[in-house]
Amino acid sequence: MTHSARDVIVVGAGFAGLYTVHLARSRGLRVEAIEAGDGVGGTWFWNRYPGARCDVPSMEYSFGFDHDLQRDWEWTERYATQPEILRYLDHVADRFDLRENITLSTRVESCRYDADTRRWEVQASDGMVRTARFLVMATGCLSAANRPDIPGRDTFAGPVYHTGAWPHQGVDFSRQRVAVIGTGSSAVQSIPLIAEHAEHLTVFQRTPAYAVPAHNQPLDPAEVAAIKADYPNWRAGARQTSTGFGGHLRRGLTSALAVSDDERAAIYERRWDEGGLVFLGAFTDLMVDPDANQTAAEFVRSKIAAMVDDPATASALSPSTVIGCKRMCVDTDYYVTFNRDNVSLVDVSSTPIEAISPTGVVVDGELHEVDAIVFATGFDAMTGALDRIDIRGVDGATLRDTWSAGPVSYLGLQVAGFPNLFTITGPGSPSVLTNMVVAIEQHVELVADLIDEVSRRDASSVEAVGEAQAGWVEHVNLVASLTLFQGCSSWYLGANVPGKPRVFMPLPGFPEYKQICDQVVAAGYDGFRFV
Ligand code: FAD
Ligand code: NAP
Repeated sequence: MTHSARDVIVVGAGFAGLYTVHLARSRGLRVEAIEAGDGVGGTWFWNRYPGARCDVPSMEYSFGFDHDLQRDWEWTERYATQPEILRYLDHVADRFDLRENITLSTRVESCRYDADTRRWEVQASDGMVRTARFLVMATGCLSAANRPDIPGRDTFAGPVYHTGAWPHQGVDFSRQRVAVIGTGSSAVQSIPLIAEHAEHLTVFQRTPAYAVPAHNQPLDPAEVAAIKADYPNWRAGARQTSTGFGGHLRRGLTSALAVSDDERAAIYERRWDEGGLVFLGAFTDLMVDPDANQTAAEFVRSKIAAMVDDPATASALSPSTVIGCKRMCVDTDYYVTFNRDNVSLVDVSSTPIEAISPTGVVVDGELHEVDAIVFATGFDAMTGALDRIDIRGVDGATLRDTWSAGPVSYLGLQVAGFPNLFTITGPGSPSVLTNMVVAIEQHVELVADLIDEVSRRDASSVEAVGEAQAGWVEHVNLVASLTLFQGCSSWYLGANVPGKPRVFMPLPGFPEYKQICDQVVAAGYDGFRFV
């Protein structure tokens, strides 16, 4: 591909990058995706830790844009494993012949908008400078690993792993004393499997997680056939739910406080037996009314107390915060793993990890000796991957500076001062509060339409209007303030990364967001400026 032959450069080749390449190409655009990994798949290329699987059911956590693809692909389990999802994304790349438009093993380091040529100049780790009119950041919300700067972190003599950059050949923990730092979703999935193999596992917990059972199982062929027979409608139903999945399931229609204690307990029990994130759909007000929320929290705490033998451990594993405020975890045997003789829990909520020494982890003056450390410490979410690229828009303004007090955007899609640059599932859009494949498809399609509109108007660029952006930021803050999402130190707020501004980044409510986007389009792309 020659230097000037690109209309679009896409950064990233996960779900978002793959679909962008496909759609851009099918609309006659010359496109190249640049991916840091040695393969496609994004999240599912990097996160190969034991137990990694989706927590949105496989039949929904998959592309809906191509009828033949969704008819042909056979998911085997309710929640597909990482290898299966990666096989699916490899299949998508092959099926739509996307690989010729993807450059792997190459990291984008800087992107500069040239106002004279009205093109983006993209500098990458292969030494090349590429240019394109449009730049689509499909860099992922959860792709920049968070490695806490604990004193002595790099002095540990044994192997150190991060769940989000797991070795491809796997890790053998047998006869090893292992530390897992963190108790979010990645830890909740991996701890039971690490515990099965390790000689001893020590879990360092700063904040206990709420986890609901997955009840993972092989998919029933009859159920799959029924879904496939009506897949488009089934997907359309999912898009009508706040979270972009589970449209076919019973939704709670009343307040948790409007039913008797017995009735409420029976409803929670049924949801617990069904399993999965739909637990929080039991009632209408679990994410808006603190008292309603605590009924669900208390139910989960009672389950933890029943599952964990040692009362002190059960108490330490029981969260006291708002349930759902941090992303809920979906588990298989997480809590009961703490009944094993070879597993211990170290509470670091009030006494943080003091240091990492060559032989282990030090808390409150005590050295916990281990042979290997697993950082299950998550990601610099939503802004991290973009922040790690030097992005300069009009007049050389950097995205880092523009977002120094927290990210601003219009619809989570564009930032004023950065023409022709698009963020897929950017901050200010539903993104991580939804089934992300649904959010990604909607964004990619909207971006493709915006690019088409630039040509249709014979314009050279499209950019968010400053006032529209300011109004959008206000809207996102308002919606978030009506929920209980701001009541804890979550990564949604940037609270897991020291020094990161505390701003609620995603927008709750997919259908309402989609409706606003549709209205913006119908009003002639209101809030966007075509030059
Ligand atoms: P990613 O898959 O993160 O891909 C982004 C790609 O961009 C990466 O491959 C990265 O290497 C590349 N990249 C970033 N910066 C650069 C750069 N400077 N240069 C070149 N390449 C770059 N969501 C759900 O809805 N349901 C789930 O069940 C679910 N499970 C998850 C499980 C795990 C373990 C994790 C970490 C996340 C999960 N998510 C889930 C969220 C998941 O990230 C999204 O569902 C989805 O995979 C995101 O796709 P993406 O293409 O937007 O980003
Ligand atoms: P995470 O939810 O951010 O969890 C990170 C954990 O590390 C938290 O328990 C955190 O504690 C802890 N931690 C961070 N820094 C620490 C420090 N300095 N000392 C001690 N503990 C520290 O990250 P994640 O588990 O990788 O999950 C991130 C997101 O990816 C999820 O929320 C979900 O959206 C997605 N995901 C989904 C699945 C799935 O089931 N499909 C699996 C994995 C990930 P605090 O809570 O106190 O910050």
